[in-house]
Amino acid sequence: MHTIEQLVDSIKSGNEIAFYKSMVWLRKRKQILKRDNYECQHCKLKGMYSKAETVHHIKHLKDYPELAIEDNNLISLCNVCHNIVHPEKLKIIKKEIVSEERWE
Ligand SMILES: [Zn+2]
Ligand SMILES: [Zn+2]
Repeated sequence: MHTIEQLVDSIKSGNEIAFYKSMVWLRKRKQILKRDNYECQHCKLKGMYSKAETVHHIKHLKDYPELAIEDNNLISLCNVCHNIVHPEKLKIIKKEIVSEERWE
């Protein structure tokens, strides 16, 4: 079992996988999806409906590890919107979708 302090430390040392696999995150992720009614919040702003598939860190995890599980820093997005906010991830879309689905 990890404490949030330990998780913040592992993010800082580049081990984000440990964070994404932690119970702390998996529980928080579910809570945020529920808060957002499992609806993509960016699509919602445009008056559209998409099922949320990802919980995104508004201030990126690497840059703000201390905001890793802050409700205000988390937002539910569909994969399309998530890829728009992470242009740097485009190369690994397939891999990301597969790993996200494992947590559903
Ligand atoms: Zn969307
Ligand atoms: Zn993200």
